[in-house]
Amino acid sequence: VPEGDTIHYAANRIRPVLEGRVPDAIATPHPRFARDGWPERLAGRTVRAVEARGKHLLLRFEGGLTIHSHLRMTGSWRVVRAGQRWPRSPSRAWLVLRRGEAEVVQFDGPVLELMTDSRTRIDRRIAGLGPDVLAPEFDAERFLRRLRADDPARPIGDALLDQRTIAGIGNLWKCEGCFEAGIDPWRPAAEVSDAEALAIVDEVRPRMRISAQDGVQDRFRRIYGRAGLPCPRCGPRSLVRSRGQWDDGRTTYWCPECQR
Ligand SMILES: [Zn+2]
Repeated sequence: VPEGDTIHYAANRIRPVLEGRVPDAIATPHPRFARDGWPERLAGRTVRAVEARGKHLLLRFEGGLTIHSHLRMTGSWRVVRAGQRWPRSPSRAWLVLRRGEAEVVQFDGPVLELMTDSRTRIDRRIAGLGPDVLAPEFDAERFLRRLRADDPARPIGDALLDQRTIAGIGNLWKCEGCFEAGIDPWRPAAEVSDAEALAIVDEVRPRMRISAQDGVQDRFRRIYGRAGLPCPRCGPRSLVRSRGQWDDGRTTYWCPECQR
């Protein structure tokens, strides 16, 4: 599931290939980019930085241009050896950056755009992000400020998915964090203390940091996707429940016994 750790992992893989270098070749095979002329606009430009911000990835080029990507549920970034078989069909590649022996490939979009640096500073999707859960120093005060500034009646699970409150947590980490901290994801945010909100973040941060290093997210799945199965903490006396949360009804998993 593409969440903040997935994006940081991709950035960690892309950085040694592209950062501080000029790509040998840039291609945008997807028909939607046919007239956009990215290869010409980016030719000869050094990649200044590869940034992960929450669930967004930014490739900063010399001359004030940035490629902005958001994977939503379907997209993927891969780094492969040039000439090696790709993990997805070539017809699904939206962007290919080749440098030396490596190819950086973006598959299946769905958000991939070239913008000026100045636009990234005012674009609400990027500039409006809350503190990044994976930042080396997590800004806990800003997180709590933003949590308290929004609707106090909304469930804490909803608040954690709001990228303006905290950036990088998606549905999987929301479920796992609430489970590990023993907090019901449906409890109104106003009834969750600062210490409890921070406890959820403290549970997911170290796990996400490991996953961002090696790309293996599944090992931390304890409750996500286990509807109707025994709770990993309570055993068969309590079964994991599931229900849609957030405006697009993302399935939330929780144990009604040990999460209060
Ligand atoms: Zn339980």
